[in-house]
Amino acid sequence: MNDDYNYAAWFLGPKAEHSDTWEKMLVYTFRDYVHWRRNYFPEDNVVINSQLRRQHELRLDSLRDELTRILALFKAQNPIYSPRYIAHMVSEQTMPSVVGYFAGMLYNANNISGESSPIGFPLEIEVGKIVADMLGFDPSQSWTHISSGGTIANIEALWIARTVKFVPFSVREYCRQQDMAYDITLPDGSVCDIRKVDDCTLLHIAPAEAVRMTRRLFYTQIEAGRTAEKIMDDYSDFVKKSDYNISERGLAHVLAKVGATPRVYLSPSAHYSLKKAVNVLGYGSDSLQIVDVDENFRMNTTLLREKLMGAPDDTYIAAVLGIAGTTEEGAVDPIHKITALRNELSATHNRSFWLHIDSAWGGYVRSLFKGYDLSSGNMDDKVERCRVNINTQTGECIWSGDDNNYRAYLSFPEADSVTIDPHKLGYIPYPAGMVSIRHGLVTELIRQDAAYVFDKQSGLLPDFGFKIGDIGSYILEGSKPGAAAASCYLAHKTIPLDIEGHGAIIKSTLISTQRLQRLMFEHLNRFDEYDRLASHNHAAGSDERRLVTFRPIHRPDTNLICYMMVPVKSEKGGEYIIDKSYSLAEINELNTRLYAAMSVGEEYKGLQNIDFFVSRTRLTDGLYNYDSIARILEPLGITRKAYVKEGLFVLRSTVMNPLYQLAVREAEKDYLYDFVVALHGHASRILHEFER
Ligand SMILES: *Cc1c(COP(=O)(O)O)cnc(C)c1O
Repeated sequence: MNDDYNYAAWFLGPKAEHSDTWEKMLVYTFRDYVHWRRNYFPEDNVVINSQLRRQHELRLDSLRDELTRILALFKAQNPIYSPRYIAHMVSEQTMPSVVGYFAGMLYNANNISGESSPIGFPLEIEVGKIVADMLGFDPSQSWTHISSGGTIANIEALWIARTVKFVPFSVREYCRQQDMAYDITLPDGSVCDIRKVDDCTLLHIAPAEAVRMTRRLFYTQIEAGRTAEKIMDDYSDFVKKSDYNISERGLAHVLAKVGATPRVYLSPSAHYSLKKAVNVLGYGSDSLQIVDVDENFRMNTTLLREKLMGAPDDTYIAAVLGIAGTTEEGAVDPIHKITALRNELSATHNRSFWLHIDSAWGGYVRSLFKGYDLSSGNMDDKVERCRVNINTQTGECIWSGDDNNYRAYLSFPEADSVTIDPHKLGYIPYPAGMVSIRHGLVTELIRQDAAYVFDKQSGLLPDFGFKIGDIGSYILEGSKPGAAAASCYLAHKTIPLDIEGHGAIIKSTLISTQRLQRLMFEHLNRFDEYDRLASHNHAAGSDERRLVTFRPIHRPDTNLICYMMVPVKSEKGGEYIIDKSYSLAEINELNTRLYAAMSVGEEYKGLQNIDFFVSRTRLTDGLYNYDSIARILEPLGITRKAYVKEGLFVLRSTVMNPLYQLAVREAEKDYLYDFVVALHGHASRILHEFER
């Protein structure tokens, strides 16, 4: 028995095939919980006695009726679990995540602190370490926790970066005041007394160096004979009054003091949560430095290089953002090129920067890089080892032809912070995002009750190790569900985050994506076949048969594909060519109609009338300029002028359901093939009905 699809054990299945198992687990959990209640002071009497319970029947009746009503309403919900749902970034949830969530929900622990959640809180710290390890960070040296999602995770990462940025300034001020020599390492590797370092250099200290600075200062002083208590009191009083203390003075004050404005570098594909981040942090959208993408929607690092090298002196690099799995296209920025650029900039310009990776979407792809030895060798060796381990036995490549993804993911450990969303490719229920910071010591710098100050109990331990009892002081959010922690923990404990475990799920989706890509775009001459199969859907045999095909907008790096329908005509030689007589406005309209046919849309049409689901997005000149995607637009006959005016409406499919291959084998149902046929069917009908 082929066990490639063992991971199917974790999913309820399109027909709720695993419902017995799920039911047992859920009932088991609930009963166990009930016993817990009964066994706590069992001698206490019942309060809601039988007679009362009978009286409650009436109330419960109304609950039952209302429940029935909303259960009925929910039937109009998008069938996200179905292989027919190839739309937004959501799919099945795994059994351990649901059972874990259910258990955590019953106990309803508030994971804001260890005191309010003595069980759920350690689970969160523990699963944080598991995820940090997958991302390539040292679990014992990094700091990872659950947030409500990628949005908050991104804001928090940049908030921490902002805090770290000004640590060296307070240290310098302190050393100057104390007339104390203190050597620090500059980005170019030279060592210098901090008192002599100028503002611009200080703004670009390597994050790893800046994070350690306060702690090192303490040790230096302890070695000089002062007591830890004394130093802490002194320094905390000093920092409270420091001109560079953002949480006390505010950003405006600190920026006026250093005379430089922040810049955040990112590609136009960045999620809009980054806009929120710079807004909340006080940088403003003006701080965003948009670095255009290449034709695969990856950041063009040649342009990034130009921007970084040529940055005016009155600006500083607040952060550079790399995206691993853009929200619209699933593209993976060349993280390895960004880190190489950071090395170069450090050497030539004495400037380092905070690198944040937003892998809310693609973070779990890192599970493919776990479960075999990558501890030795140079980058090229590692790429080869990954290639062998990740690709299918038939040598089928699971993503775009170049090495970008290998190198980008192998470079994760060099980032300073990473966002990852368990509620996306972790197959875990909402809400569950995560932020992981490579330098665990940041916790000492961000405490809200005493920013920059060591906690007397938890700070200044002999070796690294931070204890966090009340997480609430270290994070942006307040009360938070212990259920999410139990959910993530149980899922990642049961389904290991390596190539055999969670990686097998991820891999299946990548393989499905490549297959869909081939079905849709590579067999151009097969669309006749699709058309024929779909012909019952439209006016078959009509005299003026109009033909359509689908063209991709990019080559998928992960498991999202963006594409559009375009009218074609048949030439004498049997070749099909794109019918350029359609204007872009018309093409957009056709695609908009196609989207309407394959989504719930504005007017409710009943789920049984939507055979497959897709989502959509819009490319506009304001985001992606014509030149960066001209290679895609030109062959479609889309001119610069038309694109600037109209933008491009594209369809988007997230190929996330884990069961496509299994369905072919066990159910003789090829959903992806049927999807392409359905697309052609809808498209032909829409084109046929289209009045020009
Ligand atoms: C989804 C996503 C986010 C936002 O995450 P939420 O969990 O929706 O808050 C941020 N960045 C990327 C790349 C995403 O795909």
